Amino acid sequence: MTIAIYAGSFDPITNGHMSVISSGLIVFDRIIVAVLINPGKNGLFSIDERLQMIRESVGEEPRIDVDRFDGLLVEYAKKKDVRVVLRGLRTGDFESELRMANMNRHLNKGVETVFIAANDYFFVSSSLVKEAASLGGNVSDVVPAPVMKMLEKKYASRFNKG
Ligand code: ADP
Repeated sequence: MTIAIYAGSFDPITNGHMSVISSGLIVFDRIIVAVLINPGKNGLFSIDERLQMIRESVGEEPRIDVDRFDGLLVEYAKKKDVRVVLRGLRTGDFESELRMANMNRHLNKGVETVFIAANDYFFVSSSLVKEAASLGGNVSDVVPAPVMKMLEKKYASRFNKG
């Protein structure tokens, strides 16, 4: 059985992330979607909100686990006895992803990074979604429904004022 860890900030999860997960399920038996707790980076959503949105978005898929971690990804992988890190690759991601994959390889030779090519949602990022939504843009086609609901709630006061 091959298990992969799909780690990220997921602030919030988007349809781009969702497509990496569903493609990943073609290749891997199980996927752990792991939210990185980064004390130095304050997100729009709390870690608990992000986990809740991921759980609601993936639904009842028994091959997906949702978890959180802090510190080094390779250490988390070791703890979970997982040897594959799954990443999505959009235009522009290549250089930073190549650096990260090789740093992780340097830190732990037993963990390999596998990339899934971005699809129609190649232009979607969590930060762009937040920016558009904060300005009243309709992002309902690029995020799962539970995320849309949370974004509306976050920005409701702003919209109501305008
Ligand atoms: P980070 O905050 O570490 O950049 P993210 O949570 O944004 O991580 O994303 C986690 C992973 O998902 C990264 O590999 C990123 O390239 C990938 N990803 C994000 N958005 C998309 C998308 N629209 N299509 C494909 N992969 C994506």
